[in-house]
Amino acid sequence: MLPNHSPISFEILHSPLHFLQAGLSDLPQPDWLREYESWWEREGQGISAAVDRSGTPWLRMFDRFGARVDEVLYPPEYWRMLKHGYHAGVLWRVFEEDSLLPAYLGIYVTSFYDPGLSCPYTVSLATIAPLSKYGDPELQKRFLPPLLRRDESVWQGATWMTEIKGGSDLGAAVETVARPAGTHWLLTGDKYFASNAGAELAVVAARPEGAPRNVRGLGLYLVPRQRADGQLNYFIRRIKDKIATRSVPTGEIELRDSEAWLLGLREEGIYLILEVLNLSRVANSIGSVALAQRAMADALSFAKRRMVFGKPLIEQPLIRRQFEERFQQLQAASRLGWEAVELLNQVWREKPPYSDRYHLFRLVAHLAKYWTAELAVQTAKWAMEVHGGLGTLEEYHVERWLREAMILAIWEGTSHRQILDGLEVMERRRTHHLLFQHLAATGSASALREMESRVEQQLNLPEEERGATVEGLFRDLAAFTADALLARGIRAKS
Ligand SMILES: Cc1cc2nc3c(=O)[nH]c(=O)nc-3n(C[C@H](O)[C@H](O)[C@H](O)COP(=O)(O)OP(=O)(O)OC[C@H]3O[C@@H](n4cnc5c(N)ncnc54)[C@H](O)[C@@H]3O)c2cc1C
Repeated sequence: MLPNHSPISFEILHSPLHFLQAGLSDLPQPDWLREYESWWEREGQGISAAVDRSGTPWLRMFDRFGARVDEVLYPPEYWRMLKHGYHAGVLWRVFEEDSLLPAYLGIYVTSFYDPGLSCPYTVSLATIAPLSKYGDPELQKRFLPPLLRRDESVWQGATWMTEIKGGSDLGAAVETVARPAGTHWLLTGDKYFASNAGAELAVVAARPEGAPRNVRGLGLYLVPRQRADGQLNYFIRRIKDKIATRSVPTGEIELRDSEAWLLGLREEGIYLILEVLNLSRVANSIGSVALAQRAMADALSFAKRRMVFGKPLIEQPLIRRQFEERFQQLQAASRLGWEAVELLNQVWREKPPYSDRYHLFRLVAHLAKYWTAELAVQTAKWAMEVHGGLGTLEEYHVERWLREAMILAIWEGTSHRQILDGLEVMERRRTHHLLFQHLAATGSASALREMESRVEQQLNLPEEERGATVEGLFRDLAAFTADALLARGIRAKS
């Protein structure tokens, strides 16, 4: 039986912080975050809509005297919107408070209004994290303070792995070569999808000359925008013309003997790359929940006022039931996304070899990235349908959430990759046992046993069949985990 939500309880959909407060009251909601949400209501959302509407930003490649400058040209309001999050403390508070929560809370609020804008904050976090863990003291002294500045001059980060031959199979597709040059390295190659193009510092996947052509041959390098002599250290070939996430410039990057510094041990490069990706996948998970919340909020505003067959659409039993079911799904997905944040916050400072807790986190992160992105796409499609034909018109914005959701489902690894990587971490590390122990106190012991036995059966299938048939199981495991976490939350409250 579904809980009987009065219309008033749906009203929390209109505010990211009210929604979090209702479902996850243990999450802090400091004053700066409330002020940040108010700023989006007052000012940010108007800027965001204009940036989305105006499409691809321009790239100015040369100055008037023929020198290469590669400047990304957005209107001044864009820079105000972007810098506002840095000022508010989406990043610097992580180090002040020694917790990832401020970043993920800020990203949640940002994503409710503009899922693309949360990308610069996410990739900056995913640059700062490996630098602070693996960078030598000299590198940290040089690069960390500008990334944590609280004023206009703050530096941005970026995470560039994908090349033209594909992002899923990085071990085979990365052709960027790293050559040693004394205390640093020189990188040459092209990055095909490079978000936050123009960032002052990027972490980049490259293969040292002669290293094996598989994932173990990859290293993670720090690449600043400028060389020590002030010249450009990488070039932007062009800015992509994308269907959405227009508030982050995604470009093609040319590395040409670009000065770089290796992070961590060369043999452990792939672990560092996955650490970077995992920080982004968790951000993607809560960003997807925020997007789904936003799409539902827009659908609600419309359904309350649209009259059909003598009463508001929201009072039609079919639509009302859909709202109730989707509301519950959203709450469960939110639990799953924030569980991934919570686990990440516990393990993100670990270095290889990792603890069991870290491997549990990896499985939860794959489940969360997959499940929340699918939810975002489905919810955004449904919100358009609730609007009828008006939903297809750009002027009312609801179609934007479907465009944005489609990107959330693909970048940071597609749903296929989450399913297959989730399967692998269960095969290799038996992480499903850790997951079921983690969920032990959440619900019925027999339901847990049944789900665990389904996972075991899947893992015992012959290799090809195991991969070919895993989708249904992974979907059920994600829904099961989300529902179990929601039930735990409800019990803890009552
Ligand atoms: C807007 C945007 C911004 C981006 N920004 C960045 C960025 O800043 N940095 C960065 O590094 N990357 C970035 N990416 C790249 C993104 O991470 C990749 O698009 C994504 O990882 C998928 O890689 P691909 O597009 O090359 O697809 P491919 O790897 O070519 O895959 C094609 C299809 O094959 C599927 N597939 C792959 N392997 C298997 C398998 N074994 N079994 C079944 N199916 C499989 C994939 O799931 C996908 O559906 C960005 C992408 C977009 C769209």
